[in-house]
Amino acid sequence: MGASESELLIRQHLIDPEVCIRCNTCEETCPIDAITHDDRNYVVDPNICNGCNACVPPCPTGSIDHWRIIPKVAAYSVDDQLTWDELPPQQEIDGEAALPELSNDAVQQNAATSMSSAMAPRSAAQPHLHLHDVKNPLTATIAGNFRLTEADAESDIRHIVLDFGNQVFPVLEGQSIGIIPPGVDDSGKPHYMRLYSVASPRDGERQGHNNLSLTVKRVIADHEGQAIRGVASNYLCDLNKGDKVLVTGPYGSNFLMPNHAGSNLLMICTGTGAAPMRAMTEYRRRLADQGNPVPGKLMLFFGARAPQELPYFGPLRKLPESFITSHLAFSRVPGEPRTYVQDKLREQSKAVAQLLRSDTYIYICGLRGMEAGVMAALREICDASGFDWTFLHPNMVAEGRFHVETY
Ligand SMILES: Cc1cc2nc3c(=O)[nH]c(=O)nc-3n(C[C@H](O)[C@H](O)[C@H](O)COP(=O)(O)OP(=O)(O)OC[C@H]3O[C@@H](n4cnc5c(N)ncnc54)[C@H](O)[C@@H]3O)c2cc1C
Ligand code: SF4
Ligand code: SF4
Repeated sequence: MGASESELLIRQHLIDPEVCIRCNTCEETCPIDAITHDDRNYVVDPNICNGCNACVPPCPTGSIDHWRIIPKVAAYSVDDQLTWDELPPQQEIDGEAALPELSNDAVQQNAATSMSSAMAPRSAAQPHLHLHDVKNPLTATIAGNFRLTEADAESDIRHIVLDFGNQVFPVLEGQSIGIIPPGVDDSGKPHYMRLYSVASPRDGERQGHNNLSLTVKRVIADHEGQAIRGVASNYLCDLNKGDKVLVTGPYGSNFLMPNHAGSNLLMICTGTGAAPMRAMTEYRRRLADQGNPVPGKLMLFFGARAPQELPYFGPLRKLPESFITSHLAFSRVPGEPRTYVQDKLREQSKAVAQLLRSDTYIYICGLRGMEAGVMAALREICDASGFDWTFLHPNMVAEGRFHVETY
């Protein structure tokens, strides 16, 4: 006999408010608008969500991937969820009512249309994930904090080194860590954590040391240009050597580099999106310095408003062309036309097409607005070179060769 309405169980999809960084990725991803948010929390509407999973791989923290078996009549409403500071535990469930089947069609359809790879390159090292959370953060010590952008540059981007002493905190290039800013927000709740990409290789900012670096931009305006004081970025940028900082993570299981011979990296970034590219480049540079054959080609497209705003400009220019080819795009140099990374991609279309024909891994990182232009340029380059981006792109996604991280 089937379960009555009051016995019917559902698998309710919930978001962990303690780990969520309010990045909006899930809301943008959900194909049926089941996710909504207020000033504080991101929540899933149980009346809309069909459990398709499309929002799960893109979530950078894993906070989206929580499910509770619960009687349908007792499902947590959107209003309930908006008040939460933490997830409720799984309740004891009586009876043996069957769970409804989730829509596999929807899962497959949405996985296929996902723009970024939901899996790591096949030869990526195994990442450590979620070793520390907000309830159990690690305390790191600031070992250095210096400005990367020149004194006359508008933006203040900083290179911040965190030392972990004798605590274990293994990270890979492409992963992020969480930073918990001290204090409370306007509603009196503790500030939620923010994510920052690791800018150093797996063996440390200083090779063999238990430290890592971040590339942090001091946020003094929102994306619409209104003056604001970003909570975590200003906190980090103002830290001094010896200060302590609470760290969670590591996060990120997909945006990782391949390690096999012959794998090429095509890296496209703007601003602080340089952080994971610096980590990957530096890792391969160290391998080469140790006498290992360089596994593949590196090609970098890097955009900023002006040279004085480009983090790591000096060290980048010192790398030989035999190791990496770099193409810099500046959008606000007086007297010069505005140039963006997608323009540089088009300029180098022959070399890019050649890379795309081989065993190449694409990484895109930076401000959210860059994605559309870069995708259009890649499509054009393929069209002009006689192969089909509509076919290549989903293949690269499926093979863990196409990675996007924008914020
Ligand atoms: C996977 C991932 C990796 C990230 N890596 C880095 C990194 O390596 N370096 C880095 O500086 N930031 C990085 N960020 C962004 C970072 O997590 C914070 O969102 C950013 O520092 C702003 O936080 P805040 O507390 O200072 O600002 P909040 O107090 O949270 O205010 C944010 C407001 O500023 C606006 N804003 C303006 N510029 C930015 C910006 N650059 N980033 C985010 N919001 C902005 C937002 O729209 C919002 O209105 C990353 C984000 C993600 C999701
Ligand atoms: S599981 Fe699917 S329907 Fe539910 S919130 Fe995520 S993307 Fe939307
Ligand atoms: S951290 Fe995950 S759950 Fe939170 S807003 Fe971003 S994608 Fe959604």
